[in-house]
Amino acid sequence: MTKPTVLPIWLLLFLLLTGCGTTSYQFATAEQVRLENTTNKTDINNLRRCRNSAHYIPDTSQLYLYPERTVKINIHFVNNTDRTANFPDEEQARQFALQMVADANRYLRDNQPMHLPVGNTTPVLPIRLQYQITRDFEKPGDDGIYFHYTDKYFFNDHKNQRTLFNRWQYDNYGIQKQEVINVFIMPHHPDSVRSASYPKSTGGVGTPHWVKLTGVYYQSQQKAGEIDGNPYYFGPWFAARLLNHEIGHTLGLAHTWNTNDGCDDTPRHANCWNYSDRPPCHEEVSNNVMDYNTYKNAYTPCQIGQIHYRLSADGTTQREKLVEDWCYRQPGMDVEIGRNDSVNWECFRELRGNLRLKKGSHLNVYCRLSMPKNAKIIIEPGATLVVEDATITNTCGDTWSGIEIGTNRKAEGQLVLRGNAQLQQLDHPIPQKVISE
Ligand SMILES: [Zn+2]
Repeated sequence: MTKPTVLPIWLLLFLLLTGCGTTSYQFATAEQVRLENTTNKTDINNLRRCRNSAHYIPDTSQLYLYPERTVKINIHFVNNTDRTANFPDEEQARQFALQMVADANRYLRDNQPMHLPVGNTTPVLPIRLQYQITRDFEKPGDDGIYFHYTDKYFFNDHKNQRTLFNRWQYDNYGIQKQEVINVFIMPHHPDSVRSASYPKSTGGVGTPHWVKLTGVYYQSQQKAGEIDGNPYYFGPWFAARLLNHEIGHTLGLAHTWNTNDGCDDTPRHANCWNYSDRPPCHEEVSNNVMDYNTYKNAYTPCQIGQIHYRLSADGTTQREKLVEDWCYRQPGMDVEIGRNDSVNWECFRELRGNLRLKKGSHLNVYCRLSMPKNAKIIIEPGATLVVEDATITNTCGDTWSGIEIGTNRKAEGQLVLRGNAQLQQLDHPIPQKVISE
């Protein structure tokens, strides 16, 4: 039989007074930082590591480290001065644009299992991407949806690729060109629509700064089918799939059916638009967003990784288009490295809260890490943070608080700066110390 363990009052008082077991925290001093050299090769390995898109595939067991990204877009309707080529009514066009973007976001929130290869077990991961129609705050009344009337380059000629790649509309009508993807809704020429031989299908192009969707207005008037005897049309839901395809290009994705897109989970195939009686389209129809098919509702893990690599890496055109939602601390967004866990961060990352390394844990940061304003990194006693050839900073041009090191009677938090490690924009900077060779 054992006695219940109750600490005597005198022992409790003693512990309280002597502070045994308590941990004190203070911002790191030069003496607490361990500086280590690395070979030059590590630098190169690090670049390779941080640019590996596989490191950006969301890990569903810790999705908080893979926050949803919001990409800024605006919408332009280009029409002739008679207003006979594209949506004639601006309000109707505006509603179409809003619904199209809402539908595109709905597809992005609802990733589907891949059709191909038949029998595949490719994971269906969250895409973690949304679009936001972005107004120009310098223009009063602006809502990010624009109308242009010209008799010059108001149309796309489906038989002439040069009209598709013509950047005249972007050069002349583009708004917030650097930080917003400009989407142009281009009609067929009215003469083309009247021609029986002209292919009136939709099409498009996605470049790093702008997108064109062509033939959308004509298509929106065509019947797509019937539900309970009522016709429905190729409305915003259909244009939304095309929008996702073209923005897929903007975010760096390639077609999958006939090219090497850098992904093992997007097989090559015959590029059937939909199922039909004739082989090979009787059983092998892709639903991947980057093929020409009617579904365009599946993004593979590799494609999601490619998108998020470009949205995360410093200096890409894609990253410029992001809503910067990591500048300030957000409630509930603190991150902890669990007790005795050992973790490597091998991707460009932004946190939205504090980072705490629990007792005995080990975190290696290999790529640029951004901390929000007023946030701090807390290293508990016995935990180790290694910053290896990486920079921890605030990428919003602001400051972050700094690194606190916990000390108790038994242990101290460890901070190791290895190779070309940099701590920038700290409210509580650590005094420089020269590495002794
Ligand atoms: Zn394409």
